[in-house]
Amino acid sequence: MLVLLKEQLGEEPFENSFSKCLEVFKFENSYIYVKVPNSLIKYKIERFYAETIKDLTPMVTSYTIGFKFIDEKTAEAEAETKAKNEGISKIAQPDSLKSIKRPISSIYSFENFVAGESNRYAYITAMNVAKDGPRIANPLYIFGDVGLGKTHLMSAIGNYVLDNNINAKVIYISSSKFAEEYFLATSSKGSTEKIINFYEKYRDIDYFLVDDIQLLENKTATQEEFFKVFDELVANNKQIIVTSDRPASNLKIMARLKSRFSWGISVEIKQPNKELQLSILRRKLAFLIEDPSDVDDSVLEIICDNFKNSIRDLEGALRTFVNYCVCMNAPFNKENLYIALEKVFPSNKEQEDTTKQVIKLTKKAVSDYYKVSIEELDSDTRKKNVVYARQILMYVLRNDYNIPLQEIGDNLGARDHTTIGYGVDKVAALLKTDELIKADYTVISKKIKETSE
Ligand code: ADP
Ligand code: MG
Repeated sequence: MLVLLKEQLGEEPFENSFSKCLEVFKFENSYIYVKVPNSLIKYKIERFYAETIKDLTPMVTSYTIGFKFIDEKTAEAEAETKAKNEGISKIAQPDSLKSIKRPISSIYSFENFVAGESNRYAYITAMNVAKDGPRIANPLYIFGDVGLGKTHLMSAIGNYVLDNNINAKVIYISSSKFAEEYFLATSSKGSTEKIINFYEKYRDIDYFLVDDIQLLENKTATQEEFFKVFDELVANNKQIIVTSDRPASNLKIMARLKSRFSWGISVEIKQPNKELQLSILRRKLAFLIEDPSDVDDSVLEIICDNFKNSIRDLEGALRTFVNYCVCMNAPFNKENLYIALEKVFPSNKEQEDTTKQVIKLTKKAVSDYYKVSIEELDSDTRKKNVVYARQILMYVLRNDYNIPLQEIGDNLGARDHTTIGYGVDKVAALLKTDELIKADYTVISKKIKETSE
């Protein structure tokens, strides 16, 4: 029996395979007591492998027997005093969950989220998840570029749930904070209690909101812990919502997690069009000044034109402008807009110039390397060698320079952002297996860096 148990536990990717150190301690009252090195391992086995152990029991015996785990210290103390199983320490229930306040900003509500073409599907799906829970999409995976409303939408779900049930357990955490918590719980001395608190915190949650999951890339141990928490919650039919700056298929994280993400529903928040940008500005304005009609649409449009890529930046510019006019008792007009934002506009312009420059250089490098003209790269031609060069171009712009998909599309024969996304993903996948493409990419990428210096 113990051999089987060791086999099962040995397969698990724990930091140090604890299966090696299991030892039968005693048989008593139909229980086999297994000695384990410390209370943390005892806790981990009980917490994560209870089912495995239960499944194993009928395979080896038809008697009704069970397993109990006992840490070495307790076992020694018990052996000495010949006490019975009272010696087995019980793990106290941490009270971290009891003291949870609303973990998210109540401003991030559905009411304050303006829906438009670029985010409507995400918005409606999020509302359904808030109303009906895991039946709809579990996990709900929300992705999109920075500053487009992912955190807002995710928080809106949490706020809705709490508004309707004050006792609901909603946890919001950014994945980097999750990693930090895990690190702190496992790294300090005498941390058994801390790690137990960590695990307990993520049990019995109704809505688990995990922001910016891409920040778990390269953090294998934390991914492992997250995976366990995730699986347990889903198994208990609890709702998980995850946000990311890219589709799950493009995340560089463990395959098991990726496939879990694709179980649910993925929704994208895209770049807003001008109409939506304007509506959002109007809505934000209502929070800032008494009479939003004091600000003309033509003024707001200038802000929209200068902050295309992020609603966060759009909002920041509006705030700066309003603050300036209010403090200086000046009218909300174009002149004051330029004065208020003069520090922001030029650098924005600079940024735009740099992007244009990078696109130009990259096109030239790809065109030279593959002997394909720049006109052909921009054109609609589906010639195999041109399509290939074009996709490498998309990949370099996105991967090396983080240029928004839509902006790449706009500068590449007015292509749609989904076409660019497709090209980028395709090259990313090929790069993993195809050494020739890897070599091409390395040369081109290096060349651009050299010429841009
Ligand atoms: P992300 O998490 O995608 O980086 P956030 O959710 O933090 O972006 O959004 C950035 C800012 O833009 C927030 O202040 C948010 O309220 C605002 N915002 C984004 N989308 C909308 C929207 N559709 N309606 C109203 N405000 C929005
Ligand atoms: Mg965010």
